[in-house]
Amino acid sequence: MNQNNPLSKFFRQPKIYITLPSRGLYYEPGVLGGSYENVPIFAMTGMDEIISKTPDALFTGEATSKVIESCCPTIKNAKLMPSIDLDTLLVSIRIATFGNNITVSHTCKNCGTENDYDVDLSGVIDYFKDLKYVNTIQVADNLSIKIRPLQYEEMNYFAIENFKLQKMLYQTSELKDEERQRTIDKIYQDLSTLQLQLFLTTIETIQAEVVVSEKEFIEDFLRNCDRSIYGLIKQKLEENKETWAMPKQDVKCGNCNTEDKIQLTLDQSNFFA
Ligand SMILES: [Zn+2]
Repeated sequence: MNQNNPLSKFFRQPKIYITLPSRGLYYEPGVLGGSYENVPIFAMTGMDEIISKTPDALFTGEATSKVIESCCPTIKNAKLMPSIDLDTLLVSIRIATFGNNITVSHTCKNCGTENDYDVDLSGVIDYFKDLKYVNTIQVADNLSIKIRPLQYEEMNYFAIENFKLQKMLYQTSELKDEERQRTIDKIYQDLSTLQLQLFLTTIETIQAEVVVSEKEFIEDFLRNCDRSIYGLIKQKLEENKETWAMPKQDVKCGNCNTEDKIQLTLDQSNFFA
């Protein structure tokens, strides 16, 4: 950006400042170019809007990364940021670009009325700001596991691979008996390999008598440990995932007053609305 450009006074200015929920932890050197507090967020440019409307790009996270780096220049490489900061950044960019309110449609489970609700997104930022990522799984007195959140790119990878396998599983209903069983067995094998790969990515070290950080040793441990330990790791990862999901919103039907909770999601259909 050339500072001598006489048009620069018309360039976008930061609209809001936020605190990253990660508190700057889990960033590798060079990925975060400043403090985790008072992080400036700019509105999207016209070019950001065009790239983020490319459906395929949104799925792979390519466009999302570009838009985050454009609207939050403190993040130097969005693919490598811890995924626990993702929703806060997307919500902040939505606020900086279109304001605090987002309209969410929900059909009442009791009477079927379709209600539109205005949700104030600043509450979502406050929610994430106070969360803590639980990074230790205590397995026994003398055995604990240190984990880290997935990076955005890793999160996308696992989501896409899992989606592909689930889709294949769904499609096996079209196959004949023997081939069907063979295919299902193979898919389950791939799913368990993917699970192992996820564990290996998220586990940083295992503390026994000594601290073990060698991936090879950790993999051997995961392949040979009791299934209850395996289950505990899975459960703790899921708990973190649930805690770090977008907060549910309380709503009340305009027609019959039935109360409900709705899951807020940011996607193509409402981000630009
Ligand atoms: Zn109703």
